[in-house]
Amino acid sequence: MSFAARLLAWYDDHGRKNLPWQHDPTPYRVWVSEVMLQQTQVATVIPYFERFMARFPAISDLAAASVDEVLALWSGLGYYSRARNLHRAAVQIATQHGGVFPSELEQVLALPGIGRSTAGAILALSRNQRHPILDGNVRRVLARYHAIGGWPGEAEVERLLWQKAEEHTPAERVAHYTQAIMDLGATLCTRSRPRCGDCPQAAACAAHAAGEPLRYPAPRPRKTLPERRTTLLLVTNDRGEVLLEQRPPSGIWGGLWTLPELGDESVAQWCRRRGLGAQEETAWPSLRHTFSHFHLDIAPRHVQVAAADSAVMEAAGAVWYKTELCDQLGLPAPIKRLLARLGRDE
Ligand code: SF4
Repeated sequence: MSFAARLLAWYDDHGRKNLPWQHDPTPYRVWVSEVMLQQTQVATVIPYFERFMARFPAISDLAAASVDEVLALWSGLGYYSRARNLHRAAVQIATQHGGVFPSELEQVLALPGIGRSTAGAILALSRNQRHPILDGNVRRVLARYHAIGGWPGEAEVERLLWQKAEEHTPAERVAHYTQAIMDLGATLCTRSRPRCGDCPQAAACAAHAAGEPLRYPAPRPRKTLPERRTTLLLVTNDRGEVLLEQRPPSGIWGGLWTLPELGDESVAQWCRRRGLGAQEETAWPSLRHTFSHFHLDIAPRHVQVAAADSAVMEAAGAVWYKTELCDQLGLPAPIKRLLARLGRDE
């Protein structure tokens, strides 16, 4: 039995057949439901879909509405570009296709906000045309069934998945097959808890056979973050105080207290500029702190100065602070770690 035949047999017994857009599945109704379902769960979509259809029963009603009214009905669903595109596409259908949803895949793909999978789903579900689909659920099912490794966002992985989607799509009962494969992904082959024991594809599923469905599809690879370097000065005096500076309100660590940052000058020049006499200077092992968009490699240098010099630095945005009291200030995590180490060394 083929993948499609097993899926259709399962669909006959277990598939979802009472979703509002499945009654009278016109291209318009299927289109609106597919767009609403792109980032949103079925249960959330249902009342929105019903309100939308009650207000805009036909494409011409949607095309004639103001975008503000469409957005108001979308309010709470999020991803508002979907609603704007829906409205723009309705206007395009009204002006270029006489108000009739196009029946050619190329024409559907030319509408704003409709990608290859959505276009295929609309034509398959509403007109029973044979087009493969590859939404998130289908990607997961096929990546597992064929044990296709790699992140589906990579061109080669995506090409392979489309090829499998194309191969499995049957010539008959395309609408049911399309609903069935989406249902399988949404109800059995779920992202974190696939129910292989109940799955009609289990006997032929490569990921299940290997006992590792969760390996597929591979997650998006972590981006290689750029690296930045900085030298931070732990300037201490013989009263057990450390010099802290407050960062400007914007930028990294905005408004937090941190250690002074050494720019292009040497430690000696930095101290001289501030009227401090460095008595001893030690380089500490560097540490890495990772922000969402870069790694910061911090080279700390411990500089000990005489207490007599300390008063010089008491200026706006700079303060000598007892190391044991530093917990009371808003300090970034790596600065806290450095100060903790300072406390241990003393
Ligand atoms: S057997 Fe398991 S992993 Fe394979 S398609 Fe079914 S639910 Fe998914």
